Amino acid sequence: MNVLVFNSGSSSLKYQLIDTASKKVILKGEVDRIGTPAKDAPRDHSVAMSMVFEKLGTQKVDAIGHRVVHGGPNFSSATLVTAETLKQVESISHLAPLHNPAAMLGVRACRDLMPKIPNVMVFDTAFHATMPEKAYLYALPLEDCKKHNIRRYGAHGTSHDYVSQKVAEMCKKPREKLKIIVCHIGNGASVCAIDKGKSVETSMGLTPLEGLVMGTRSGDIDPAAVEYLAKAHNFTLPQTITYLNKQCGLLGLTGKTSDFRDLLAMYDKGDQTVATAFDVFFHRIVKYIGAYVAVMNGVDVIAFTAGIGNNIPALRQAVIDRLGFLGIKIDPKRNAFHNCNSVTGEITGKGSRARIFAIKTEEELSIATQVEKILSVKC
Ligand code: ADP
Repeated sequence: MNVLVFNSGSSSLKYQLIDTASKKVILKGEVDRIGTPAKDAPRDHSVAMSMVFEKLGTQKVDAIGHRVVHGGPNFSSATLVTAETLKQVESISHLAPLHNPAAMLGVRACRDLMPKIPNVMVFDTAFHATMPEKAYLYALPLEDCKKHNIRRYGAHGTSHDYVSQKVAEMCKKPREKLKIIVCHIGNGASVCAIDKGKSVETSMGLTPLEGLVMGTRSGDIDPAAVEYLAKAHNFTLPQTITYLNKQCGLLGLTGKTSDFRDLLAMYDKGDQTVATAFDVFFHRIVKYIGAYVAVMNGVDVIAFTAGIGNNIPALRQAVIDRLGFLGIKIDPKRNAFHNCNSVTGEITGKGSRARIFAIKTEEELSIATQVEKILSVKC
């Protein structure tokens, strides 16, 4: 089956056409600057989609898969788009205001432009639906949690699911027999504890703002600081949340950039501000891994993935070195090899009590596979 996978951002649209039988990417690309004043920029997502369909020419497309960050309380698996399901997902856009609206625009545009092709939504939150109550409940009045659907939903689920399956395969053990921690560290970043094949804890929360320090997101912060910030900058509440999402994290701490590679170059030249930002960044990852080892009462595998996790040996070395007290060790030579082109491999040190991997995440392939599965059940 040829599945066209769309990943819509607020001003960008990434796409891949994947043949699920051979797992090969037939075509891929990105349309960016959507809705910006830039010259030749597409006016909106609908125009961007038509540009993609034009590029596809006569290529056969059997189905379309859409990455949707938030599925809210009602969607715990990939779902066929109908007028009803689309309306339901649109009604929870406020749970991921930076991500869901763009995905929904994309789904609507596909339905208008290619009405005969089935669309499937694959949710980043779905994999975390197995989290126990003790992990997903915030300590608010229970009525607030229930009435307003306030809870930890997590994100990056497609990646955590794919990577944990991949490492189980590489360990030649069923995932159900392993305790796995996946560190998905890209611009957005989250850690997930997977026990017996199920997500039991993850660092992102109600929205993808909670948890680790990210490229531009603050991650964990005392909620009282939100009021302080709003007053200090004379911001409204929504402006403050946008600030925490877009101006904080590594960008905020360094005042320079959110791009890890560029920051690494500055660090190598002795930049002290960047060194401090890295300390905060690594510390938070170590803190979450330590917590998740405790939550699962042990760990068999730690996997690093995404732009930073899979390409920056110094990050993995710094994090794993801090886990020495658990008897976890990294192989410096093998680790150094995974430094630029997202390859998959084992980097466990000699005598380590847990195995360590650098894994290339394949979110699009995983989405295409889920789309095929849903449609074959429906037929
Ligand atoms: P997201 O998908 O959340 O936008 P990515 O997973 O693409 O983010 O990660 C982007 C980050 O990874 C950037 O900070 C970038 O500097 C860093 N990075 C490091 N090495 C590479 C690489 N070889 N290719 C892409 N990004 C890389």
